[in-house]
Amino acid sequence: MKAKHKNTFIGRLPHNEDLLGALTDVCKKKNIQLGTISVIGAVSNVVLGYYDQDKRTYGESVRLTEKMEIVSCSGNISLKDDEIFVHAHVSVADSRGICYGGHLMNGTIVFAAEYHITELDGKLLIRKPDNQTGLNLWSE
Ligand code: ZN
Repeated sequence: MKAKHKNTFIGRLPHNEDLLGALTDVCKKKNIQLGTISVIGAVSNVVLGYYDQDKRTYGESVRLTEKMEIVSCSGNISLKDDEIFVHAHVSVADSRGICYGGHLMNGTIVFAAEYHITELDGKLLIRKPDNQTGLNLWSE
């Protein structure tokens, strides 16, 4: 699918907010329905998920209460059940540089985070249940 660049938003997420929730709030407030997300910063708690492809279930793979760096957090914005939906993956590093990664879940708390969101102009992507994978995927 082809999409054009529409807007770029850059800013800071609030301290002590849930990372995924705060990103979703930014997108909803600015009504960004299609786009990409990038975040760097630091978090004080981390909850990551892993999709078990055999069991077809999402589980919590990592739960940390350490202060961590966000090495990378990238994601996308589309629609699910008529709502703006953020899907993001994250790599975080501890004080020794050891990294953990996975699907960003609620419970990852912002210490400081800087986002860069690219809003795209194109056909909206809608997540629907996919029989092959058991995931909510785009139709194209
Ligand atoms: Zn994911």
